[in-house]
Amino acid sequence: MTALRDIIAQQIEANGPMSVAEYMTLCLTHPEHGYYTTRDPLGRGGDFTTAPEISQMFGELIGLWLAQAWTDRGAPSPFALVELGPGRGTLMADALRAAERVQGFAEAAELWLVEMSPELRKKQWEALGKYEPRWADSLSDVPEKPLFLVANEFFDALPIRQFETRDGALCERVVGLASGKLTMGLSPPVTEESLPNDAEDGVIIETCPAGRSIASDIGTRLKKNGGAALIIDYGHNTPTPRGDTLQAVKDHAYADILEEPGLADLTAHVDFQTLAEAAETEGATVWGIRSQGALLDWLGIRVRAAMLAKASPEREEEIRAALDRLTEPDQMGTLFKTLALSGDDIEPPGFSEELGA
Ligand code: SAH
Repeated sequence: MTALRDIIAQQIEANGPMSVAEYMTLCLTHPEHGYYTTRDPLGRGGDFTTAPEISQMFGELIGLWLAQAWTDRGAPSPFALVELGPGRGTLMADALRAAERVQGFAEAAELWLVEMSPELRKKQWEALGKYEPRWADSLSDVPEKPLFLVANEFFDALPIRQFETRDGALCERVVGLASGKLTMGLSPPVTEESLPNDAEDGVIIETCPAGRSIASDIGTRLKKNGGAALIIDYGHNTPTPRGDTLQAVKDHAYADILEEPGLADLTAHVDFQTLAEAAETEGATVWGIRSQGALLDWLGIRVRAAMLAKASPEREEEIRAALDRLTEPDQMGTLFKTLALSGDDIEPPGFSEELGA
């Protein structure tokens, strides 16, 4: 039993069952007991591993993507280099090391890290201190400048709501209490204008209001101030995705969503089409959606892997395994997707139509 479980149970006793989004928000970002508030969850000793923690190649190629997108837009100076949810700062450190070769990029960059976790802010300081980063709680706290933004595995950590049709009526899935235990239940029928009202009984539909709103903000800024953004995550590329994708992960294995609030990571599939549409509505241009494997291939990950293996022959096997993990369709290559956004019609690197998905 955890302290956070008791806090959640008390809230339910006082106010009734809570939405999945409220539950996720408390589990991940409760100021004292939230999962991200209290720990560094990444890497082998943590609960899960992400692409930048698998290999330096990932961040390096993203760095070159950002620098190319910046050059193609006339190298604006100064500009806001923003990462949403930077974890340990590994991606940005690799990105800036690679992009330093592009003249003027690092000097023109004002580095902004959008991060809620005090623990991870410390790690980010260790990794990126020399670039004098600034921290923000949300994108709206970042000053308006030409924007070059990256987010890897950030949107999957944002709270989702879940809806389910029961006897022809749309209800919201909620977390309640039964015999002192947290349990999943359904609210009385609700009206949600944005959702289809003809879903079959038992089918779950998820929405991510926070993700939608952040994608809108990115779109608004790109349109107004110029720039480009790259969003990478695992998720769907279908119009109205169906099904329950909420998952808990602890010690690199799936866990029960309700069992240990605050001690397991909670994520859900990202609905890429909704993010794209939200940014497009604000006037941004949408590129993609491409698979992670296809984008990394285009950016030259195989050449980079060969160079690294040549420089450190003793690490050849490890580099090969990392390459496969990031690009192979049965690993992260297809499940992980990439969406590029820009404030103009200049094609971002690797997002040509001819390349397909
Ligand atoms: N991008 C990193 C870390 C991914 S984990 C990587 O690829 O390794 C998710 C990151 O998003 C963490 O840094 C977490 O603290 C941050 N995060 C989650 N929810 C957030 C929120 N609502 N606001 C700001 N940061 C958040």
